[in-house]
Amino acid sequence: MKSPQYGHPVHAEVATGYGPCRLCLQTFRTGTDERLLFTYQPFTDPAALPAPGPVFIHRARCERYDGPELPPALRPLPLALEGYGADGVLLVQRRVSASPFEAVLESVFERADVQYAHLRNAEAGCFIARLDRR
Ligand SMILES: [Zn+2]
Repeated sequence: MKSPQYGHPVHAEVATGYGPCRLCLQTFRTGTDERLLFTYQPFTDPAALPAPGPVFIHRARCERYDGPELPPALRPLPLALEGYGADGVLLVQRRVSASPFEAVLESVFERADVQYAHLRNAEAGCFIARLDRR
């Protein structure tokens, strides 16, 4: 019950919002699902500027999502994509709104210098997932 990177105490609560869960990438059932809140640093590149922020995961065991497609539960959410280059330099930001997610992702990876992308909640700013080139 401590943040794996910072050691801060984890906060447990019944979900008051949809999330999503950072591990399985499914949304929470508000008022039903128990969830854990802790600080997470999403950059694995040691040269990147740290950007710690809050993430939620299910309190009960769930499976890590590692699929090649956007989970359907995330499609209705306000999403943003950020493309990062070498040393974690932010190169491009795009909101996923009118365009399909795949078209926006393609436009981010169109830049040859983008090495990976982060998916964020466009309203809360929370980190959701990292996307790597195939
Ligand atoms: Zn989960």
